[in-house]
Amino acid sequence: MATTISTATNGERLSSYDPSTGQVIGTVPIHTAADVDAAVARARVAAQSWSTRSFQARAEELTAFRKALAAHADEFADLLHRENGKPMLEAYTEVMMALGHVQHAAARAEEAMAPKKVSAGILANFRATVTYLPLGVIGVIGPWNYPLFTPMGSIAYALAAGNAVVFKPSELTPLLAVKVAEIAAKTFALADLLQVVTGAGATGAALAKAAVDKVAFTGSAATGKRVMIAAAERLTPVLLELGGKDPMIVAEDADLDKAAEACVYGALTNAGQACISVERVYVADAVHDKFVDKVIENVRALKTGGDDGHLGAMTSPAQVAIVKNHLEDAVAKGAKVHTGGAEAISGSYIQPTVLTNVTHQMKVMSDETFGPVIPIQRVASLDEAVKLANDTTFGLGSSVFAGKSEVAREIGARIRAGMTSVNSVMGFAGIPSLPFGGVGDSGFGRIHGDEGIREFTRIKSTAEQVVSIPMNMMSFRQPKDMTKRLKGMIKQLYGDGVVAKAGDLFRKLRSR
Ligand code: NDP
Repeated sequence: MATTISTATNGERLSSYDPSTGQVIGTVPIHTAADVDAAVARARVAAQSWSTRSFQARAEELTAFRKALAAHADEFADLLHRENGKPMLEAYTEVMMALGHVQHAAARAEEAMAPKKVSAGILANFRATVTYLPLGVIGVIGPWNYPLFTPMGSIAYALAAGNAVVFKPSELTPLLAVKVAEIAAKTFALADLLQVVTGAGATGAALAKAAVDKVAFTGSAATGKRVMIAAAERLTPVLLELGGKDPMIVAEDADLDKAAEACVYGALTNAGQACISVERVYVADAVHDKFVDKVIENVRALKTGGDDGHLGAMTSPAQVAIVKNHLEDAVAKGAKVHTGGAEAISGSYIQPTVLTNVTHQMKVMSDETFGPVIPIQRVASLDEAVKLANDTTFGLGSSVFAGKSEVAREIGARIRAGMTSVNSVMGFAGIPSLPFGGVGDSGFGRIHGDEGIREFTRIKSTAEQVVSIPMNMMSFRQPKDMTKRLKGMIKQLYGDGVVAKAGDLFRKLRSR
């Protein structure tokens, strides 16, 4: 049987650390470009076989895979806790959400990829069909913040669509990915269907350059650009999920208790290391102070660290440094610290920090902080809130709280973002049928939902002539007066003519 985690040809290994203690918890191979190419070549063979199976057969194997993953839920939660630093409750939540996507993708693939009969327009004697076919081999480059849930949003959908996958996890969370690969090798009849290659950035760069049919990347905008440049060498399409600076808007008539509770969860879950974290909050002037008090009250009830903590260790020292820098920059520019703050950072633990008096001149309001920080800005009107919410190069998620749902929906519609939660936070991420992705610096392409399945397909258009007609436009043999007829058709079809529909004209011409 082929292995899903081959030993690296150079024999080098990478250590995975527990961020709360700094201790090594395991090692994995550092795969070279040659190793990556070999994995892709094996995946290509698996893809050929997998793509010919029926949707039902694929769904059955994916269901077996899901059940096997679920049977190892404790191990996954433990690895998530130890490699990423998140508390056990959040670890199990992540496992559950990841499994939900495997189930959804398997169940939806057939319908999402069902051939579509479309109008043949002026060529009404044709049958026009759009079909969706697997791409082949998908390279998935995953992040460290949700090392199971996020890549599964590509892996499960790519597999369900009939592709093979080569997955490169972050160097910070490789052990979890190796576990996924071991289970995949035991569950799928094709052992090379889902392979994992491990290593640092160079291994990811090799995958972006390899002969894959699409690269699905999650991470920073800077690395996303590098991936796109590398993939351009072969004109490999890319799907980029690049994080955000998600705004939350709280209207004057919002339920402040609910809004504050949701704000605190949205900003602090996973210690703020979520691409769809609430990163900026805009609150109507009339309720600003009350809302801030409620947020502070919620935050003071939270515990950082320990097995029963709400906030775990930050996954990497580099991320702690970014958060500290944002906090220092904000304070230097006049922000008021209500809880936490740069001084309260201890090793890999950051105390949840509430800031007010913030402005868009501060990094904490413009750059992705990716940490447990809640910057709250007072606004004079909802129009100002929308203007500020859209004052960003990012556009991933967003949330709106208002008493009147229609107002909340209207505000949400005006926010330039891929996703909006109304009177909740992050709701869109928990609904597998909703496509997930952003605009601008948040990237492009979609995971989840039917769009997330079709993201891993190639579109084939078929035009089938079902009836021959005397007037055949795809021929050089035309009547002498054809130019004149065409002139008339242009006028009738697209000008001020009386024939409303192409089909009517076709019938008229056929009856001649
Ligand atoms: P990166 O974008 O560098 O890493 C994301 C993934 O890309 C990892 O698997 C990484 O591997 C891999 N990678 C690194 N270099 C390359 C390359 N040249 N070609 C291909 N793949 C590569 O994120 P960071 O870990 O540096 O985090 C930086 C910032 O990115 C964070 O502060 C946060 O703002 C944002 N971020 C956003 C995420 C999101 O959910 N959208 C997730 C993670 C980070 P390796 O880890 O082995 O280097």
